[in-house]
Amino acid sequence: MQLEVKTLLNRIQHFAGFVYQDIRLCSRRRGLRVEARIEPHLGIRGKCSQCRQPAPGYDRLPERTWLFVPLWGIVTYFLYAPRRVECPEHGVVVEHIPWGEGKRPITTAMMGFLARWARHLSWRQTARSFQTSWEAVYRSVEWFVQWGLAHRKLDGVHSIGVDEIHWGKGHRADAFLTVIYQIDSHCRRLLWVGRKRTQATLRRGLAALGGEVVHGLRFVCSDMWQPYLQVIAAKAGQALHVLDRFHITMHLNQALDQVRRAESGRLRGRPLADRLKRMRWQLLRKGSRVRGHARSKLDALVASKLATAWAWNLKESFQYIWHYKSYLWAGAFLDYWCSLAMRSRMEPMKRVARMLRTHEELLLNWFKAKGEISGGAVEGLNNKIRVVTRRSYGFRTFDAMEIALYHTLGKLPEPESAHRFC
Ligand SMILES: [Zn+2]
Repeated sequence: MQLEVKTLLNRIQHFAGFVYQDIRLCSRRRGLRVEARIEPHLGIRGKCSQCRQPAPGYDRLPERTWLFVPLWGIVTYFLYAPRRVECPEHGVVVEHIPWGEGKRPITTAMMGFLARWARHLSWRQTARSFQTSWEAVYRSVEWFVQWGLAHRKLDGVHSIGVDEIHWGKGHRADAFLTVIYQIDSHCRRLLWVGRKRTQATLRRGLAALGGEVVHGLRFVCSDMWQPYLQVIAAKAGQALHVLDRFHITMHLNQALDQVRRAESGRLRGRPLADRLKRMRWQLLRKGSRVRGHARSKLDALVASKLATAWAWNLKESFQYIWHYKSYLWAGAFLDYWCSLAMRSRMEPMKRVARMLRTHEELLLNWFKAKGEISGGAVEGLNNKIRVVTRRSYGFRTFDAMEIALYHTLGKLPEPESAHRFC
């Protein structure tokens, strides 16, 4: 059998009630273009776009085009003049068009195609690869994500992590996002993202998840950020609130870095100052991961009587707490560690100790939740978010970034298609 394009199209994208009339290869100034003209099947009535019931015809609208998946790399369009039908219930409406979605000028097949590629390439690269615009890719991913959000299932969400992400420039309120992750061991994904990091933001996020999800929560993991603490206590009081291990380590590292900077300022010009030079990375890294030459430099620094060495010891020794199995022993260790830190006379370390004491109960909840939530989940998802926000400079607007985040991290269900083009 000789292969005709029509045969191919009928095999991969057949729409009941419609036929491919003729397929042309046109030569345009910007290159070749395939045009597939579609006609309604004679004797089959159009369907109302509201209720999908067949209805008598009314009139026809001018011909429209829909961008289709490129055939052999050639830009391809569907051409069709939609009918209007007179539905007994909805009046005169445009018929239901099975390859499109409302007024969107791209076929659903092409939107799915672009959206799937946009997971692997940046939106700009996707647009360039398939000879379309950034805007077309954006709209396609948007459609894909909206479909996924409308069809996702939220049952089985028992543990969430709440976090703030710095995005954009400066430290204005607008430069932060609040994200809610699911961090159950069987499923880790982005559930929600919103502007700013206020109480109102988190309230909106929890409302978006719905009362059923919020009341079903067993564990909520977050940083010691006051607005979040308050909202979680008010809205999900039944859940065990756990301070995140990753954030505590971050606070310790920040304190250590402040001690180091202050000390290298004080020592400027003196021989001991060399010990602190270019040591930031070695100091902040988990001690057991520092090896080789870096290790011997670190050992020399630790053996010195510098305040930085003392602060480093405090930071490293705190990690022992995570080995405890018992809530009580972990509590005893915390007391001991805080008293050491309070005696250190280093204000940044004392600040961390005071903060941990204030939130002792939430910190120790970690040991009640042990095994139920995955400690690295929030950190892992945060790192992935950074990859997405950095990958494209095209995300100048919040809306575009929001869509990109749901698209890559939301584990959303995907619209079905008759044929998978990629
Ligand atoms: Zn109708």
